[in-house]
Amino acid sequence: MMDESCIFCKIAAGEIPSKTLYEDEEFKVILDLGPATKGHALILPKNHYRDLFDLPEEEAQKAMILTKKMALRMRERLACDGFNLVQNNEEVAGQTVFHFHIHLIPRYEGDGQVIGWKPGKPGDAELEEIRKLIVEE
Ligand code: AMP
Ligand code: ZN
Repeated sequence: MMDESCIFCKIAAGEIPSKTLYEDEEFKVILDLGPATKGHALILPKNHYRDLFDLPEEEAQKAMILTKKMALRMRERLACDGFNLVQNNEEVAGQTVFHFHIHLIPRYEGDGQVIGWKPGKPGDAELEEIRKLIVEE
C-alpha cells in the first residue's frame, strides 16, 4: 500500500534517504529533518494511511508499542529528561505530511521548546454539554 506522491512512502521504501533508527517489515523510525530537539524522531508505518482515522487497529497497537520501546531506548542513550508524543491529524491540527506518523520528542531541562496550547476556562455546564455530546446516543 503505497501512495506514489507521498514522501514518507518513499522514505519507507528506501527511495529517499533517511536517518533510520529502527526498521522492520511494517515500520520505520527516522530522525525528523526539522527537529524540535536533539533526537526528535518519527514513527512511520510502511503502509500508507493518511492519519489516525485511517490507521487499522492492529497497526495502531503496534505503533504504540514501538513508540514505547523507542522512547525507552532514546531516554537511555540521549539522557533526556522527558518526552512529548505528538500526532497531528489534518491541516487544522498542524499535519503537513499526510501519511500517519507519531512524533517522539525528547525533552531536556532548559531546551526552550514550547509544545502546547492555551488552556480554556469552561464552566461546569459547558463541560457537561460537551461530555453529553460525545457520549450520549
Ligand atoms: P506533521 O507536521 O505532523 O505532518 O510532521 C511532519 C514532519 O515531517 C515535520 O516535523 C518535518 O520536519 C518532517 N519531515 C518532512 N520531510 C522529512 C524528511 N524527508 N525526512 C525527515 N523528516 C521530514
Ligand atoms: Zn505515504
